[in-house]
Amino acid sequence: MAPKMPTPVQVGSVTDKQLTITWSDGHRSNYSWQNLRINCPCAACRGEFGYRPPRLTAQNIPPTIRAMSMGRVGAYALRFSWSDNHDTGLYTFNLLRNELCECEECVRSRSAQAPASD
Ligand SMILES: [Zn+2]
Ligand SMILES: [Zn+2]
Repeated sequence: MAPKMPTPVQVGSVTDKQLTITWSDGHRSNYSWQNLRINCPCAACRGEFGYRPPRLTAQNIPPTIRAMSMGRVGAYALRFSWSDNHDTGLYTFNLLRNELCECEECVRSRSAQAPASD
């Protein structure tokens, strides 16, 4: 069985310059809004079986992008309503913690791994 997934105990506000999450294991994550939006995991942004849209990049998503609101989805994800009217992505805690966290420690450990083939 996989180790218990840490859950957010404290989530910053959409008015903050960056999103911050403090996890149940004490880890502190930070995320730029632009990077979160670029990594939206919904089918329209990421594709699904038989549908491969071009990947979003900083060319498509302006640095001024902001979440207008956010909320928890069940006990496993956060959902954002973006200033470009997009709101279908469910950001699972696993995604936020293991793939998108921009803290120094996570960025370093991810860059040490071979890039994921996608
Ligand atoms: Zn999306
Ligand atoms: Zn981190």
